[in-house]
Amino acid sequence: MTKATENSNSVFKMPVLFVGHGSPMNMISDNVYTKAFQRIGTELPRPKAILCISAHWITECPMVVNVDQPEQIFDFYGFPEELYKVMYKPPGSPEFAEKVIALIPGVGKTENWGLDHGTWAVLHHMYPDQTIPTFQLSLDSRAKLQDHFALARSLRALREEGLLIMGSGNMVHNLREIDWNSEAPARPWASEFEQTSIEVLENSGLSAEEKAIGIFKSPLLAQAHPSIEHLLPIVYSLAAASDESSPKVEIKGIQNASISMATLRFS
Ligand code: ZN
Repeated sequence: MTKATENSNSVFKMPVLFVGHGSPMNMISDNVYTKAFQRIGTELPRPKAILCISAHWITECPMVVNVDQPEQIFDFYGFPEELYKVMYKPPGSPEFAEKVIALIPGVGKTENWGLDHGTWAVLHHMYPDQTIPTFQLSLDSRAKLQDHFALARSLRALREEGLLIMGSGNMVHNLREIDWNSEAPARPWASEFEQTSIEVLENSGLSAEEKAIGIFKSPLLAQAHPSIEHLLPIVYSLAAASDESSPKVEIKGIQNASISMATLRFS
């Protein structure tokens, strides 16, 4: 019996993840990162539902997807045909979506979104059986860093109900400086931003909110993130974790020269 199966019916506190989803090519790749996603899926307690905060869904007020069967969204363009044939169709979780709405004032619900590739490109490696109810919470385009943190902190209680909260972005994400060779050498500033961010996250002298603020204070921020939507999901992961939680770095590394694939687990 696997660890995941043993835990499926018991009350437990789910870990929190931050995943680097990187290039859509990872959907059909077999590399160290996709292998890490597969391993994490077998090692985590099996969640009752998964809430993903993806860099690819930004709205003017926070929204949750509240549908029985979320649409699989192919929100990437110009990639090989093979990627558009990857099917990932888990059920939604209106039950947990309603819990999020009840916990967080101002969160709306919508049927006009489903699961974008920030969510399913990773989950199809982690949970290929497609049976775990999955839904998304959007990034509020008007919110300040502290607002994102406060909202996400309210989600912590749902970990004890078996919800896996997963921020999906990239610790470094600069598409202007990518190399189309996925194994191209990392830009030095990309490696430096990834490393210093991980050091901030591992600093036990800081609260979770101080860690979030610390990452955004880096002098390399503008180079690592010409726009910040791929970094914001780490704020949700941090806020949903405990203050004293030191992350386990599941994997790190720079893909395509300027994309960090750092993936962390907070217990
Ligand atoms: Zn992305």
